[in-house]
Amino acid sequence: MKPTLEGGCACGAVRYRLTSKPMFVHCCHCRDCQRQTGSAFVLNALIETDRVTLLSGEPRPVAVPTDSGRPHEIFRCPTCQTAVWSDYGRRGVLRFVRVGTLDDAAALPPDVHIYTRSKLPWIALPAGVPAFEAYYDMKKLWPAASLERRRAILG
Ligand SMILES: [Zn+2]
Ligand SMILES: [Zn+2]
Repeated sequence: MKPTLEGGCACGAVRYRLTSKPMFVHCCHCRDCQRQTGSAFVLNALIETDRVTLLSGEPRPVAVPTDSGRPHEIFRCPTCQTAVWSDYGRRGVLRFVRVGTLDDAAALPPDVHIYTRSKLPWIALPAGVPAFEAYYDMKKLWPAASLERRRAILG
């Protein structure tokens, strides 16, 4: 049986289900992610918006400033304000789901560590997982099937 990837916010108003595995999982150590989470990094599962089924609630977008100037909206539960996913670049078709909001947050370990130049010094990166000082070349790292999925939504 396939494990069900479901998650939600802290108060339980927002519940969602991922209908497939994501294309790729980022662990981002950039300063934006550190500030926005108040933590050391963010865990983002990149998945098509139409593979995120909203079971209850309605996350609302909050625009946040970015170092790059690219638009970034964080979708939060209107009641408890837990961030459940992001839309980078207002693309609509692609969600960055916060892995920590999954019921089983261990189900989606990072495929890559990025922006390690601002990684907090006491974090030791795991061996065997690619890590980059800044961003990386998706074409070299993503599985072919994931690249195909990305092409299907973004062209
Ligand atoms: Zn909530
Ligand atoms: Zn980041």
